[in-house]
Amino acid sequence: MPHPPLSGQTLLDRSEALAAISAEDGRLSRHYLTPEHRRANDLVAAWMAEAGMATREDALGNIIGRYEGETPGLPALLIGSHLDTVRDAGKYDGMLGVLSGVAVVADLRARGRRLPFAIEVVGFGDEEGVRFQSTLIGSRAIAGTFDPAVLDSRDADGTRLADALAAFGLDPAAWASAAHAPDRVLGYVELHIEQGPVLEALGQPVGIVTAIAGATRLAVTVEGFAGHAGTVPMTLRRDALAASAEMILAVESLCSGQERLVGTVGRIEATPGATNVIAGRVRFTIDLRADRDALRLERVAAVRARLEAIADQRGVAIAIEPLHDSPAVACCPALMAQLAASARALGLEAPELPSGAGHDAMAMAALTDVAMLFVRCERGISHNPAERITPADAEQGVRVLAHFVDHFQPASDRRS
Ligand SMILES: [Zn+2]
Repeated sequence: MPHPPLSGQTLLDRSEALAAISAEDGRLSRHYLTPEHRRANDLVAAWMAEAGMATREDALGNIIGRYEGETPGLPALLIGSHLDTVRDAGKYDGMLGVLSGVAVVADLRARGRRLPFAIEVVGFGDEEGVRFQSTLIGSRAIAGTFDPAVLDSRDADGTRLADALAAFGLDPAAWASAAHAPDRVLGYVELHIEQGPVLEALGQPVGIVTAIAGATRLAVTVEGFAGHAGTVPMTLRRDALAASAEMILAVESLCSGQERLVGTVGRIEATPGATNVIAGRVRFTIDLRADRDALRLERVAAVRARLEAIADQRGVAIAIEPLHDSPAVACCPALMAQLAASARALGLEAPELPSGAGHDAMAMAALTDVAMLFVRCERGISHNPAERITPADAEQGVRVLAHFVDHFQPASDRRS
């Protein structure tokens, strides 16, 4: 007997079937516009068709299934996530959101239900950006913010994106046709594994995303003076590594004790890098994220000031250079409230939490109101074959999504 459409086990079984489509034996690596992408799109299209959707592939290789509303041609609620993966990936990051969208439509169809709007389920072709070093190509194309200059970017083998699109059977010149008109879209909702440990710590299967955190990345260079580890007295040193150690602890303390703010020094390099030489020069990075831009920018300024003060005290020079700056993308409060109501209707608490990682919803926010539902994953592990979820959690997630879709009200009327 077939599983009912909203079964968590069906979602996990289909995740396994997709995970078997990989460029590498024994581990999951599926990149944009490859033969594996083709097979994944075909398999998802077959599931979409089985769920009663008309399927199409757009000019950038996104696979889209459309389930008409009460009358054909109504504006659509979009449900989606990505089908590409990082190297040696987990089975659920991205895929779970696409499969959940298909399941929700299969359930509507099984109940013979049509809604006062259409639903389009989207499997984005590129979110991770592994092949062309440009993230969110699929969702940017649909949101109408794709930069055609990216068509000239090349993968590691020197293949241009435009040529890869042609080899995939698509027309690169038609890139603009992938964009959806804002007045044809009512909102975007994405179910995704949390990729962090918060829901597990709270003992909750699902959570509602408040915002996708904004991020600042800085490169710090500290210049001291290299010297002999045996002959230079402690009082006469300008040790770039000891100064950096103090700075790194300052970053940690300035980013602690504030909810929804995190700061990380993930990389450090000391030169000359010998056991018996005082480090003359150190470079390290800072990654600082928060779901509110004002908080992030205030804290970045505080970190800069504190690092400069430490450099001053220790007689070392410091240069702080910005590497990256992206604003936070807020989820739509009205859609968050609808997700919360759906969770409550199913007896779930669904705490709010920010997303520290980027998602397709970030790009989709340029087109329409967005909301995200997170599903708990084991120990927060992701981008790793050890990524795990339970069938019970997947089922709670897809049931919240189904309830949300059943009761969906557009947050704002963008059609007028
Ligand atoms: Zn993802």
